Amino acid sequence: MAKNIVRHTYRITRKERREDNSHNSFLIFLTGLSGSGKSTIANALEQQLFSEGIKTYVLDGDNVRKGINKDLSFSPEDRSENNRRIGEVAKLLIDAGLVVIAAFVAPYKKDRAFIRNTVGAENYFEVFVNTSLEECERRDVKGLYKKAREGKIKNMTGISAPYEEPEAPGVEVTEKNTVEESVELIYDTIANKLRL
Ligand code: ADP
Repeated sequence: MAKNIVRHTYRITRKERREDNSHNSFLIFLTGLSGSGKSTIANALEQQLFSEGIKTYVLDGDNVRKGINKDLSFSPEDRSENNRRIGEVAKLLIDAGLVVIAAFVAPYKKDRAFIRNTVGAENYFEVFVNTSLEECERRDVKGLYKKAREGKIKNMTGISAPYEEPEAPGVEVTEKNTVEESVELIYDTIANKLRL
C-alpha cells in the first residue's frame, strides 16, 4: 500500500513550533486499570499546564473510542490497533508542538513499547496510575466491573483480561495520593522536560 507514497518535507519544523511555543513537546502517557483515575488526573494536570501557558491536548481512551477508533473492539488485536493509532496521533500532536497527555488502559507492554517507539523514547514519559483492582472495583465509576463480574462484558482488564504492569514508569501514583498530589508528582518530574 505504501509503495508509491513519498514523504514530503515541510518547511515549518517541529523545532520551530516548539520554539514558537517556548516549550518542549512530548507525550505524558497515563496507564492503569479502568477507574484508576487516569482521566481525572489527566484533566487536572492539563488544567495546571494550561494555566501556565503550555499548549496541551488530552487524548482519552473513551473519547478516542467514540471517534477515530469507533470501529475497534476490545479483543487483543483491536486493543493493539487502538494503541497503534493512538501512538500515531500522539506523534502528529507532538510534531504540532503540543504536550500530549494520554489516558489509556493500554494493558499490554508491547503496545506501550510500540507507542514509545512511535513517538521516540525521548518524547515518551510514562505514568503508572497504580490503583488496586479492589479500589477500582469499589469506585466502579462506569459500572463496568459489575457488568464484567456478571459476565456481561468480556475482555475486561483486571477481571477477564490481563494488565501487564509497567516495570520502570517515569512516575507511579497510587490510590494513597490525592488527585492534587498525583498532579504535583507528575508535574515536578516533567518540569525539566518542558524546557527547551
Ligand atoms: P480512568 O480514566 O482511569 O478510567 P476515571 O478518572 O474516569 O478513571 O475515574 C476515576 C474515579 O476515581 C473518578 O471518579 C475520581 O474522582 C475518583 N477518585 C477518587 N480518588 C481518586 C484519586 N486519589 N485519584 C484519582 N481519582 C480518584
